[in-house]
Amino acid sequence: MGIGVLRASPNRGQVRSRRLRSAGVGPAGLDPGSPRRPSIAPKKKRAAQRPCAQGAGGALSFRPPKETGLITSALLNTIPNNHHGFGTAAELVPAVLQPVWDERPNKRQVHGTRAVHIVEVRQPVGDADAFHTATPGIPVSVITADCVPLLLARRDGGHVAAVHAGWRGLYDGIIGQTLAQLGGGDWVAAIGPAICAACYEVGAELADSFVQRFGAAIVPTYRHLDLRALAQRQLEEGGVAAIEHVGGCTHCARADDGSFLFRSYRRGDRNSQQHAGLFIHHDH
Ligand SMILES: [Zn+2]
Repeated sequence: MGIGVLRASPNRGQVRSRRLRSAGVGPAGLDPGSPRRPSIAPKKKRAAQRPCAQGAGGALSFRPPKETGLITSALLNTIPNNHHGFGTAAELVPAVLQPVWDERPNKRQVHGTRAVHIVEVRQPVGDADAFHTATPGIPVSVITADCVPLLLARRDGGHVAAVHAGWRGLYDGIIGQTLAQLGGGDWVAAIGPAICAACYEVGAELADSFVQRFGAAIVPTYRHLDLRALAQRQLEEGGVAAIEHVGGCTHCARADDGSFLFRSYRRGDRNSQQHAGLFIHHDH
């Protein structure tokens, strides 16, 4: 399935907008057991052999901690009363989330822009791609394999959020919409393992759409989208001053033994993807 299905027409803008929404190539997010939906679209021609480019925050001379394998954000670790983690191929659900994992919302990620306030355990939320809670003991999390997993915490530790941001969610403004719902305050954010711009080649029309909406910096080389850079920009525009990039490229980052560190939709992982999430301690 190609992304480059957009064609010129007299009302090009409207066509583009509609086609982008219906292109069916949105990334990520299947919770295990949810209906199969496409993630970031596989491309027939891959750029997989190129070295991974630096993300916006310069994330990528990356190695996971050898002892635990746990990927965490030093920035989020400064927030009181929170536990968080980014999953990997070896640990799809970060162990730190296991004590509260059964309490997570019952969700289905659909590459939309809906954010949901989580107020009870195992809350049924339906289709949504961003989740936030001020209730201790309930994890908010997202599942990704190439899309951007984004974890946020208010600096006082009293409110946390998780956002699934693939190209479609970013294009449609999920980060801004989530931040608006969070209602201000001093927030910090960690942008987790996601496909790098070098690995993420898309169709020319889609790339053009991103250039037109967000400027050339988001497409650093021809037809390659920098999702991390766009996520960072949208966080900054939403007033999040403290942002950290963690983890590597889900598509090309490898462990010392040569195995891939993350699940990657574009590399072929469909029904087994990593989770990223966080929760507030009960004693908060
Ligand atoms: Zn890469």
